[in-house]
Amino acid sequence: GQGGNLALVHLNIDRLRFVNDTLGHEAGDFILSVVAKRLKGFLKGQHIIARLSGDEFAILLKNIRDESHAKELIEAIQHYLEEPIEVKGQLHTLTFSIGIALFPEHAKNYSELSMKAETALSEAKARGGGEYEVYRRGSATKTLERILLENELKKSIQQGHFNLEYQPKFNLKSGTLTGVEALVRWHHPDLGMIPPDKFIPMAEETKNIVALGEWVLREACRQAKKWQESGYRTLRIAINMSAIQLEEPIILDKMKEILQETNVSPESIEIELTESAFADRDGLQEMVQKMRELGVTVSIDDFGTGYSTFSYIKELPVDTVKIDKAFVNDIHVNEESRAIIKAIVTLANTIGLNVIAEGIECEEQVKVLNELGCREGQGYYYSKPTTATNCEKFMEKWKVNE
Ligand code: C2E
Ligand code: CA
Repeated sequence: GQGGNLALVHLNIDRLRFVNDTLGHEAGDFILSVVAKRLKGFLKGQHIIARLSGDEFAILLKNIRDESHAKELIEAIQHYLEEPIEVKGQLHTLTFSIGIALFPEHAKNYSELSMKAETALSEAKARGGGEYEVYRRGSATKTLERILLENELKKSIQQGHFNLEYQPKFNLKSGTLTGVEALVRWHHPDLGMIPPDKFIPMAEETKNIVALGEWVLREACRQAKKWQESGYRTLRIAINMSAIQLEEPIILDKMKEILQETNVSPESIEIELTESAFADRDGLQEMVQKMRELGVTVSIDDFGTGYSTFSYIKELPVDTVKIDKAFVNDIHVNEESRAIIKAIVTLANTIGLNVIAEGIECEEQVKVLNELGCREGQGYYYSKPTTATNCEKFMEKWKVNE
């Protein structure tokens, strides 16, 4: 870049509140005045300084050549500010967290630039203090909360703060149980239960889903084996898998290993993959085919919400189509949803795929689904996801495989 570019710097005095609490407010105010004086002295009126809040300053650096020029300046400022300050006869060394955003590289106007500097500052703060960060594209949505949560997720995977719930699936005509779907739950020791919608996308983005998914697979297979040994021999267990997990070919070996280790029969394991997973990635179909060669079955999850046309399922190496709850939701009141489900069922029957409807919440929906020829379903009407032990009550009741 040429001269004339700007860098907006948000600078936070780390732990100033702690200074206020332990040394008193005068000490805090004194420190602020020293920091302000040092900033002015260092920048010598060539740049603009403003106080943003209690412990935060904004600095607009002018004539910045490029990112490394901005970094050079910041490192020098940081060094200068970290000179010990004498407060009440004692020397105190402060640290500073700094976020930097560049104009015009990162933003078109001041308010956007200031948001990005703040985002960068959040990231710097999350690193524990005394660090600076330049804004990165893609970190736009990364709030402090999000960064902390990512770290917690990693820790929780190591410490095993997850468990599985199981949601039964039923034959819509006879009402007998046909299988269960394993759904992961995160119980954070301090934050409590965090729903999958909040952490699965994050686990995917950070690739933590690979380690977590392996745990899910092992745990579900272990439970499947236990159920099979207690007499429910044909019970199928469905496991959700993200496309990210299939990006590493090693997953096939891992699956094989887990199947052998838990000694579960592969036919009883079903892998649920979302429709968008198939649309997004080349080579995934081949992976799925290889997975089926291990003996497991595969279903296409949330069907109807993706980009693909219905006829596309013909080309997918899957055994079952799972109709998304969005269509089931209003099936008893909406002609169009009925027509869509009818079309899916007809096509699936023609090419020999199973169909299951998810998100069934009332008897009316069961009735319409039956009329449309859909034979299997799952939803709160029958049961919410619940513990393995609770599921066993359904198995008893409907006497699976006896
Ligand atoms: P999904 O695979 O579509 O799972 C169905 C979700 O709908 C579950 O939410 C379930 O509790 C909920 N549900 C079931 N019946 C009904 C109903 O009648 N009405 C309504 N409104 N909702 C119903 P949950 O457990 O919160 O899971 C959300 C998503 O998280 C799952 O959506 C799945 O995409 C993902 N997920 C859960 N466990 C795993 C896992 O082990 N691995 C991966 N990769 N993803 C997982
Ligand atoms: Ca699913």
